[in-house]
Amino acid sequence: MNQRVPAVPLPGDSSLSFPFPQPPAGGTWQEAAPGVFWLRMPLPFALDHINLWVLRDGAGWTLVDTGLNSEATRELWDRIAANSLGGVPVRRVVVTHFHPDHFGLAGWLTARFGVELWMTESEYVTAQVAFAQLGGFTNHASAALFAKHGLDEARQEAVRTRKHSYRNAISEPPSSFRRLLDGDRLEIDGRSWRVMMGYGHAPEHAALYCEELDALISGDMVLPKISTNVSVWASEPEGDPLELFLRSLKRYATLPEQTLVLPSHGLPFHGLRGRTDALQEHHRLRLDEVLTACQHPISAADIVPLLFRRQLDNHQIAFAMGESIAHLNHLLHQRRVVREADVDGVLRFRKTR
Ligand SMILES: [Zn+2]
Repeated sequence: MNQRVPAVPLPGDSSLSFPFPQPPAGGTWQEAAPGVFWLRMPLPFALDHINLWVLRDGAGWTLVDTGLNSEATRELWDRIAANSLGGVPVRRVVVTHFHPDHFGLAGWLTARFGVELWMTESEYVTAQVAFAQLGGFTNHASAALFAKHGLDEARQEAVRTRKHSYRNAISEPPSSFRRLLDGDRLEIDGRSWRVMMGYGHAPEHAALYCEELDALISGDMVLPKISTNVSVWASEPEGDPLELFLRSLKRYATLPEQTLVLPSHGLPFHGLRGRTDALQEHHRLRLDEVLTACQHPISAADIVPLLFRRQLDNHQIAFAMGESIAHLNHLLHQRRVVREADVDGVLRFRKTR
């Protein structure tokens, strides 16, 4: 279960500024803020990279996020350890959320450096459950949810048999962790980093804000070029993650306008408020379009071509279905649509009269 983001360009990008036009090359890093070093790791998806952060931490380092469990990422970590860490110990590994591009090498890195994993409890437990492929965290459960929402048989089969399962994308998770709570302050190199929880993309995503540096490690909660994936998954079919996501964006929008945002994908940027406004607007427009389509009963699968106006491969269809259900569930929670199961058992949504 790889919850990657379909690359949708958004309006409002002109209000952003990018202080570093070029990302660091593989195996090298770039200082993005004092003591905050920016790494890039490859991803074998349409979204082909993730940003990771290495923070100077006294006589050591704190790592934030880890990369996918792949040969390529492990080799790049070997190079970083040999060339950049300077023989100084890694003191801890912080992970923003359980998705495999962030959490993938958490087990491998914590074992390698003999350090603890710092994470929120929901993310840690979800990683364990998804790794064990239990309950709603299986390809079969996803395919069954999407079947109820109208996905055709061939695409269901593709979801059931897809290769990039969570278990293959991460190293074995550590058997214990240090818990992060909203508002906690991590002392890193004498500076205080405040944990800012966000919801809707993952169960309990931790972003980190340092007032002294005026820098936000935003994880996947605020991205500069693409919209964060906000999906309903089989473990919580009645959920309204879009409401949670939009509410979370309002929290990040309270940070100072000049905050340097260090996102997991794309380039570091200034213009946080403009970006969160654009994302709010993006979803408002999408919801209006979906609502218009609901003049007649329509399923989540019917909505996919409306939300994603391009060909989707079998890997992307799961995220597209999850996003479509999220938009319909949000309208349902707002009572702007009603839901009915037709004779064929497919759930369809119709605009409230
Ligand atoms: Zn994510």
